[in-house]
This record gives sequence, structure tokens and C-alpha cells, in this order.
Amino acid sequence: MLNADLHCHSNVSDGLLAPADVAARAKTNGVELWALTDHDEVGGIAAARQAAADMNLRFVAGVEISITWAGKTVHIVGLGIDENEAGLRAGLASVRGGREARGREIAEQLAQAGIPGAYEGAIRFADNPEMLGRTHFARFLVESGVRPTVSDVFANYLVEGKPGFVPHRWGTLEQAVGWIRGAGGRAVIAHPGRYSFTDMQFDALISAFRDLGGEGIEVVTGSHTPDQYDTFARVARHAGLLASRGSDFHGSAESRLDLGTLPPLPTGLTPVWHDW
Ligand code: AMP
Ligand code: MN
Ligand code: MN
Ligand code: MN
Repeated sequence: MLNADLHCHSNVSDGLLAPADVAARAKTNGVELWALTDHDEVGGIAAARQAAADMNLRFVAGVEISITWAGKTVHIVGLGIDENEAGLRAGLASVRGGREARGREIAEQLAQAGIPGAYEGAIRFADNPEMLGRTHFARFLVESGVRPTVSDVFANYLVEGKPGFVPHRWGTLEQAVGWIRGAGGRAVIAHPGRYSFTDMQFDALISAFRDLGGEGIEVVTGSHTPDQYDTFARVARHAGLLASRGSDFHGSAESRLDLGTLPPLPTGLTPVWHDW
């Protein structure tokens, strides 16, 4: 099967490498079809595309959009987008717009928990300050010695019920799918195994997503356990969704799976890249 890796991040959002360095790593690792999918931002696409062309790596422009659905954060990946399409760009800018105020609130909560200076500390890790996010706070908390690793931070801070969690309204499902389709792209539900929805809520998400013209779901991702590959392969077959595969690579020190090293898609699925 084609070694497709259609989900990863650069330092334009919360990854550690510049877009061209992510491209080089994908190429070195044997990726044959690669998408850069930074959170809420397409500012890395031009550099990624150029770097990929220079090393003869097939490239797909992507993005990972934060939305709020049934009160929880969900991520929708867009693949094959025209990153210069005006509606998409304006939509992503509106999603990014809430991040500064949210960052200030996260810092206030951390200060109350005895950790001062977190806003200034986190923003130093955000190469793109408009994309200040929890990963940058996590890196600051590691640097400050509060916890040894980023994943340890996320077990104790920045998540629901822990210090530094700020409920946030992102875009809507309808907006995200609409922006992606308006830019000629294909919408894909990112890492479905990460959401703590009830079965009924999850079914409702899938059906709303399909009604809006959403087409795909991630089956093999760095965020899933092998058991979840099978679970979401069944979901994809049952719902008639295209299947995607992506490492969700952020950096070698922080990601469980490296670019291009995922197992193949289970059988009986139509890959999201089948007609590209
Ligand atoms: P934000 O968009 O600011 O809410 O940040 C979300 C990002 O935090 C995700 O894209 C991940 O990179 C990171 N993240 C969330 N939960 C975890 C976790 N449990 N372990 C490591 N990183 C996480
Ligand atoms: Mn991330
Ligand atoms: Mn995600
Ligand atoms: Mn991601």
C-alpha cells in the first residue's frame, strides 16, 4: 500500500520543525504521499509544497480545524484544499482569533495554581504567536520543571478538571466542513478515538458530518491504539466513509509515532487518496 501520511504539524502551529524540515523527514522515512495539516493555519503550505517538490515527494495541502461539537473540542482535517481560497482563510483567521485571550486565561489559572509567568513563558515556544496553544504551555511547564514530559503535563494540567483548562468555543462543524469544501478539499474526522462522546453522540456526529458533505475518517493515526484501528475501520465501512492514515507527528521528542511509520490501513476500506 502507498505510504501515505496525511496528518502532521510544523512550527507554524504546534509542531517542532519548520515545514521544509517536516518534508525532509517524511521523505527520509519513506512517505510517498504527504500532507501538512497545521492547526487552524495554512501559513506553512507554500514552504511545504516547495520543499516536497524539490525532493520529488507527492504533496497534498492540508489543515486541521478546531471545532466545538456537543460541548467538546473535535478536530476536522481538510485535505486537498486550495490554501489561498478566501473563505477558508477568513474562517481560519476567525478560529485563531480566540487563542490569545484563551492563552491569557490559561496563564491566570496556572498562576492561581502557583505557576506564574506562563503566558510569557508559553509564547516563547510559539513560533507563530497567533497559534498559541496548549502544547506551548505544556513545553513551558516542562522547561519550568513542573512535569518531566509534555504528555505528563497533559495528564495533570491543561485538560478538563485540571488547572489551566479553559473551555473554549471554536468554530462549528458546519463551518469547518463548509470552509474545506469551499476550498475544494475533502473533510476528514481526525482521531475519532480521542473523543469521549457517548455512542449516541458519536453516531450523531458521523451523521451530521456526512449530511454536511464530510467524506472521510482517520482510521490509522498516531493517536489510536491498534484496537482502535479495527474499531474505526468498522465505523468507516459501516458509514461509507473514506479512510485516512496519518501520524499526527509533532516532533521526535513528543510523538509516539514518526512520519511514515504507521501500519497500513485495514482491508476493505477505500483510502481517502484513492482518486488522487
Ligand atoms: P489546543 O488546540 O491549544 O487546545 O491544543 C491541542 C494540542 O494539544 C493537540 O493538537 C496536541 O498537540 C496537544 N495535546 C492535547 N492532548 C494531549 C496529550 N494528552 N498529550 C500530548 N499532547 C496533547
Ligand atoms: Mn497539536
Ligand atoms: Mn488533533
Ligand atoms: Mn494533529
